[in-house]
Amino acid sequence: MEVKNKMVKAYCVKCKEKNCEMKDPVINQTAKGGFMAKGKHEKCGTTMCAMMSKANAEKAIADGEAKKNF
Ligand SMILES: [Zn+2]
Repeated sequence: MEVKNKMVKAYCVKCKEKNCEMKDPVINQTAKGGFMAKGKHEKCGTTMCAMMSKANAEKAIADGEAKKNF
């Protein structure tokens, strides 16, 4: 079976690692109209945030990888 890469990734301030996979990401729209994913680092549980483009935000939601909160 194909292993799917998670799209929603962010920098973890605790692990000091880039491109950490986000667990249960929720995508919000910011006041300026941008999209921001918020979730926890799978490995350590620290909350992470990542800015996303509209296209990526919509794709992550359509693929069931993230929840929509806007
Ligand atoms: Zn971490």
